[in-house]
Amino acid sequence: MDIIFATHNKNKLKEVQIMMPPHIKLLSLEDIGMNEDIPETSPTISGNAIQKVQFIRTRYNLPVFADDTGLEVPSLNNAPGVYSARYAGEQKNSQDNMNLLLQNLENKKDRSARFITVFALDMEHSQTIFEGVCKGMITEQRMGEDGFGYDPIFMPHGFDKTFAQMSLTEKGEISHRGIALKKLITYLSE
Ligand code: IMP
Repeated sequence: MDIIFATHNKNKLKEVQIMMPPHIKLLSLEDIGMNEDIPETSPTISGNAIQKVQFIRTRYNLPVFADDTGLEVPSLNNAPGVYSARYAGEQKNSQDNMNLLLQNLENKKDRSARFITVFALDMEHSQTIFEGVCKGMITEQRMGEDGFGYDPIFMPHGFDKTFAQMSLTEKGEISHRGIALKKLITYLSE
């Protein structure tokens, strides 16, 4: 089956591509020639994922899925949450976002955090939701060069390295996105 993954984020695309079984043919936005920005103006993570698939579905008559992700830090009242991309401002810059988060956690004892990903899948103009959560902590400084976003400062539970120190496969096995994606793949394979 052919299915569109509605993201302009090349890192997300790579993470999803390596997990897809051969019977599901993934089409990127580049493959279908879609260059427009996709709106994400909902106050919730699942609302944004649904908004993204609906936006694509009105333009292309193919199954489509999209993800939206948030990082929740309990000692900061679950910020940045749905505002993770623009935590330090509309420039949506990952270095600025990490700097602000590290600064806001400077005097906090509790550095626990969790990533939440919601995939929305639109098959026949109705949506199904798949969620993945990965618990961990925010490190005191950046570690690692790989990954994207907050990866250099997020250390998942049970590991002594950050997502930015893991291979794509290793991250995919335990990450919020990997967990949600496995549920989506199982659904598509049934
Ligand atoms: P969005 O899902 O693209 O809206 O992501 C929201 C914010 O979380 C952006 O700043 C992303 O860079 C960041 N983000 C999304 N997924 C991940 C991840 O797997 N690791 C680290 N940061 C992420």
